[in-house]
Amino acid sequence: MFKDFLIHASFVITFLFIGGSLFKNNPQMDTTLQKLKLGTLAGILGSVLMAFSIQITPVIIMDLRHVAILLSAFYGGFTAAFMAAAIVNISRLVFFNGSLETFLVTVLIMFLIAVFAALIRKNVRGTDFFKWTLMGVVSLITISSGLLYLVGLTKQVYQILVNYWLITTISGVLVYFLAGYIVRSNLMFMQMKTQSVTDFLTGLNNVRQFDSSLNESLASARDLNEKLSLLMIDIDHFKKVNDTYGHQAGDEVLRQLGGLLITCTHPSDIVSRNGGEEFSLLLKNCSYSKAQEIAERLRGIVENHCFSLPNGNEVRITISIGASTYLETTHCLDEFVKQADDTLYKAKRTGRNKVALL
Ligand code: GH3
Ligand code: MG
Ligand code: MG
Repeated sequence: MFKDFLIHASFVITFLFIGGSLFKNNPQMDTTLQKLKLGTLAGILGSVLMAFSIQITPVIIMDLRHVAILLSAFYGGFTAAFMAAAIVNISRLVFFNGSLETFLVTVLIMFLIAVFAALIRKNVRGTDFFKWTLMGVVSLITISSGLLYLVGLTKQVYQILVNYWLITTISGVLVYFLAGYIVRSNLMFMQMKTQSVTDFLTGLNNVRQFDSSLNESLASARDLNEKLSLLMIDIDHFKKVNDTYGHQAGDEVLRQLGGLLITCTHPSDIVSRNGGEEFSLLLKNCSYSKAQEIAERLRGIVENHCFSLPNGNEVRITISIGASTYLETTHCLDEFVKQADDTLYKAKRTGRNKVALL
């Protein structure tokens, strides 16, 4: 029996690893599709565990299939748990024989476990470990009740139940920590991935992401023979804002300007904070004259916007903008950014609060 449970544990660990890899890029389980995917994977795990069941009597088999349902309920709620239970029950019908009564009792047990587990996950207050333990105990009571109903309490059944409770409890604790470790690692991986391309202050793309977006956009513009425009934006006399209102107020202005640029541009435009008080806008399939039009509109919006400071004051700022267009003002990749930078500094030299022409 112990050997059989070791085999079960190996399957559970393998499936945890597969699940961890499948959900690496979206560990949140926030869509129905994700929950159904989790339920399906858990259902397959439950069916595999069933295929390696321990035949206890000619009609009774025992295994850890309920752990698969608990896992789906714990991470995907009722939808995932129901899906897992349904798959386990269908496999039971297709691949395993036994009396109709045994089959019906098994089906009922699996659905009850799914419902109880999902209800505990959602409604019981307490730590995750407490909920998991409660889910395990309730499912063991359900399974034991089913077994007692089918074969009654004999000395042999009593011994089986003692062993089963012991081994299932140990496996349950192991699965809890393993799954938790995998989910936490995935969440951390996603967090790091997002942070590595995001500017912490404004939530816009950071300069690293700007570089990769620039390279991707240039390659696609060249392939599709489409114009690509770049706006380089710099706040005028920003040092004065910091000097007058403090660095924190300056940060707040940068944050609000980031938000303003996002709301005033198209979702396909790539808005980045390239560093300090310098922002950029990559405009796909956009000619030079259209880019200038957009730049002028943004300049006007910023000029007329009141930025609220943490102390309740309001401040106004202006921006200077330089633009360039790949496949129009230049065909050279290296010139593309330089031209936008050069025109930005021309705007600075010739008075600020303006969009300079090449
Ligand atoms: P110009 O019109 O020539 O661009 O003048 P400026 O004062 O905006 O430019 P300058 O390069 O002289 O100064 C930039 C200022 O931006 C100085 C620096 O303190 C401020 N700054 C850069 N990054 C941050 C930041 O993350 N937060 C805050 N609050 N200020 C920043
Ligand atoms: Mg500046
Ligand atoms: Mg600057």
